[in-house]
Amino acid sequence: MVNYNELTCHELKEKIDNQEVSSEEVINSIFDRIDKIESKIHAYISLFRDSALQDAKVIDSQIKKGETVGRLSGIPIAIKDVMCTKGKFTTCGSRILENYIPPFDATVVERVKKEDAIIIGKTNMDEFAMGSSTENSAFGYSSNPWELNRVTGGSSGGSAAALAADETILALGSDTGGSVRCPASFCSVVGLKPTYGLVSRYGLVAYANSLEQIGPMTKDVTDCALLLSIINGNDHCDSTSAPFQNKSYMNALVSDVKDFTLGIPKEFFGEGTEKAVEKGVWDAIHKFEDLGANYNEISMPHIAYSIPTYYLIAMSEASSNLARFDGVRYGFRAEKSEADWDEVFGITRQKGFGAEVKRRIILGTFALSAGYYDKYYLKALKIRTLIKNDFEKALSKHSALITPTMPTTPFKIGEKIENPLSMYMGDIDTVPINLAGVPAISIPCGFVNNLPIGMQIIGRFFDEETILRIAYTYEQNTPFHNEKPNL
Ligand code: GLN
Repeated sequence: MVNYNELTCHELKEKIDNQEVSSEEVINSIFDRIDKIESKIHAYISLFRDSALQDAKVIDSQIKKGETVGRLSGIPIAIKDVMCTKGKFTTCGSRILENYIPPFDATVVERVKKEDAIIIGKTNMDEFAMGSSTENSAFGYSSNPWELNRVTGGSSGGSAAALAADETILALGSDTGGSVRCPASFCSVVGLKPTYGLVSRYGLVAYANSLEQIGPMTKDVTDCALLLSIINGNDHCDSTSAPFQNKSYMNALVSDVKDFTLGIPKEFFGEGTEKAVEKGVWDAIHKFEDLGANYNEISMPHIAYSIPTYYLIAMSEASSNLARFDGVRYGFRAEKSEADWDEVFGITRQKGFGAEVKRRIILGTFALSAGYYDKYYLKALKIRTLIKNDFEKALSKHSALITPTMPTTPFKIGEKIENPLSMYMGDIDTVPINLAGVPAISIPCGFVNNLPIGMQIIGRFFDEETILRIAYTYEQNTPFHNEKPNL
C-alpha cells in the first residue's frame, strides 16, 4: 500500500490528476500521520483539518468534472506561522500575537492558494524568527525527527520537521539569516533562500526587512523548483520586490554539471566546523568532480566579520519593526485599568515578548541610538558592502560556491539556549548570504551517526537556475534524499 503522505508533490500531483488518489484521501493520510506522531514532533502551532478536508472535496469534484485545476491541485502545504493567513491565527511563535487573526493573505499564500494547494496548518518557529533551533517559540520547541532529543534547527524548524516526518508534502519558510537553510540541513530536506527581491515579502511579519526572503522547503529539488516557480515574481504590494514577471524554474532540472566551475571558499570550513560535516561536503565536491565539474579553493576575506555585522543589522531592524507591537494595534494587551498608555505599553511588551526578542530589541535600540549609530550600525553597513563585494568577486569566476550549510549536525535540545553567543556562532555559514542578497539552497549530503549533513550551494544574483541544476544533479546521483527517519 502507498502511504501518500510519504510522497513528493510531483509524484502526488500526477496521481491526483489521474484520479488514482483523491485529494481527500491525501489530506486524510497526512492527518493520520499527524495524529500518530505530532505529539512527539510538535511541528505545528495550528492545524486546519476541517477546512483542509472541505477544500480537498471541492478540488476533487473539479477534477472529476474535468475542469482545469492549478499546478498544486489538492496538495497539502504547511506555512510557517510568520506569514499572514486570512482568517487563521498567525502567531509568529509569540505570546504577543497569540490571538492575532490577519484580515488578509500574504502574497505567497495567495499564490499557492491560486494554484489550488491546501493549507493544512501553521508551523512552529522561533519567536519572530529569531533563533536557530525553535527553542525560542513561546509554544514550546519542535523535535528533530532523526533524533527526538535534538533540535530541528530554526527558525523555520516546524516546516522542516513536518516535511522530514511526512506530516506535510510542501512547506514555506522564511530566511533572514539562515532560517530556511539551517532547519533544512538539520532535518535532511531541501530549502532555498531566493535572491533578495525575487519573492514578495508582503504579509511576512517583518524581523529584518533588508535581509529576509520567503523560500520553499520540500522533500526534493524538483518540488523546490516547482514551489519557487509559483511564489516568485513582482508584487506591487512589496516595494522591494524585483521588477521581474513570474517565471518557471522547471527547465533548471537538468542532471548535468559538466564544465561547471565551483568555488570552495575556505572561510566556510573554518574553526567550529565538525570534521564529519567537512568530510561530507568534500565528498560531495568530489562527486561533482566525477560528474565533470571543476573546482577552485578560494578565499573570501570579509566572511570573518559576518556574525557581528549580521547581528548588528538584524537587531537594529528588529528593534524598529517590533515597535508596532504596542498592545493597541495588534494582539495581546496587558490589562490594567488605571494605568496610562506608557505603563500598558511597557507591561504588554514585558509579558508579551520572550527573552531572546527582548534582548534583540534592547541591543538593536542601543546600536541605533545617538552617539553609537556611527560606531555600530553604520560600520556594520560598510562591512556588509565588503562582504557583498567578496561574493561578487567569487561568483564572477565561478558558476556557484559550495559550502556546508551548518558547521555542525543538529545539537541537543537545551545545549545552546542558555548561551546566545554560541547559538549565533552556528549561523556563520548562512548569514553572509543574506548580507549579500544572493540565493542559496541547502540539500541533504549525508549522515553521521544517523544525523543529517547539509550542503549549501550559493549562486549569482537571480541565478536560481544554476543552483537548482547543481542541486538536482547531485540529488540524481546520490541516495540521501530518499532516506527517512525511523519514527
Ligand atoms: N539564526 C538567525 C537569527 O537568529 C537567523 C534567523 C532567521 O533567518 N530568521 O537571526
